[in-house]
Amino acid sequence: MAEHPLSLSPADWEVRARSRRLPAWRGRQIYAALHAQRIETWEQAAHLPAGLRRELSGEWPVIAPEVEHAYASTDGTVRYLLRLADGAEIEAVYLPLEEFEAGGRRRARRHTFCISSQAGCAVGCRFCLTAQLGLERNLAAGEIVAQVYLLLRRHGLHPGAGGDRLNLVYMGMGEPLLNYAAVMASAGRLTEAGGLELPPRRMTLSTAGIVDKIRQLGGESPRPRLAISLHASTDELRERLVPLHRGQGGLEALLRAAREYPLAPRERLTFEYVLLGGVNDSLQDARRLARLLAGMRAKVNLIPWNAGPGLAFEAPPPERVREFQAQLNAGGLPAWIRHPRGQDIYAACGQLARAAAPGGIAASGDRPLPAAATAIPAQPLRDTL
Ligand code: SAH
Ligand code: SF4
Repeated sequence: MAEHPLSLSPADWEVRARSRRLPAWRGRQIYAALHAQRIETWEQAAHLPAGLRRELSGEWPVIAPEVEHAYASTDGTVRYLLRLADGAEIEAVYLPLEEFEAGGRRRARRHTFCISSQAGCAVGCRFCLTAQLGLERNLAAGEIVAQVYLLLRRHGLHPGAGGDRLNLVYMGMGEPLLNYAAVMASAGRLTEAGGLELPPRRMTLSTAGIVDKIRQLGGESPRPRLAISLHASTDELRERLVPLHRGQGGLEALLRAAREYPLAPRERLTFEYVLLGGVNDSLQDARRLARLLAGMRAKVNLIPWNAGPGLAFEAPPPERVREFQAQLNAGGLPAWIRHPRGQDIYAACGQLARAAAPGGIAASGDRPLPAAATAIPAQPLRDTL
């Protein structure tokens, strides 16, 4: 795969400019067109000479992914099916959240972008729809960045200005720590001066638990916040749910890496725990989990399981979710319930599975959407939201 133009840093562009016998500032101009102006096509970089624009579009014809479908949920969530230059398909999800001051006055809007790091996923967690696709390929750093810019454009957002606050979660398709270099490069592009300049604390990376990469991540700067998908409080159960568990040294190695992870002053680790009815949702599970995480600067996000075709699990009853949360709190562990967003359009956690599976499941775009969901045309949404 050819390199993606959004993968390159300002220094990379300076080198590219010099190799074309152009001054270094031209390179920085190209970088600014891509990351400050956030062009979708080279024609939009009006301040670059026409000849250079032609050369650049010859070398890098595609900057932005193509939007194949956008599905809007009744709760404001929008799921995008995106086609990359080589035809690989991924998904990105936009989740808006209004914030109100006491008295009901609108204060600011918080927006979360959930982006993919791989097309498909190789990890094979039993309860996750993406797992059924297998891994098609890693994304380039620029393909990860391009999802963010696309969502910004479509929703008319300018983070930092006018109170728009953006949170970015690497929680779409794929296991980000199995595409480590590209994921870290994408975090570099999104946080560095001259681009979007997203504060690193606004980014969270969720991993199924790749122990040596968790350790490596702890040493990076800038780095996203870390969320570990735990889902079980015994080795036996975690091995069944997350097939790579045993090869990573079990709970002992994973939790040791978590305890030794260097946290910034107000940083906390997040543990995600998908609640599977009758599998890992007993109060005994909750007590064991609280003991395992005792003394850590951590919180738990409880995610009631979201259904997917062909997956033989059940969501726990709502009162069980609340009891589980209360049990963790009683054990001294802060725990939150992540209410599903965009379930009606298959945008909730673990429901992303658009890419065609070889001989596999029906792709989500082909799944009938419930009546409440609207398939909206592939065009900017600003006026429709
Ligand atoms: N691969 C990474 C990040 C993507 S998945 C990881 O596993 O952490 C994001 C979160 O959704 C993970 O915590 C994952 O366990 C959870 N998830 C997967 N399938 C789910 C489902 N069907 N219902 C609820 N959460 C699910
Ligand atoms: Fe991959 Fe995460 Fe799904 Fe597991 S839960 S299969 S790691 S995307």
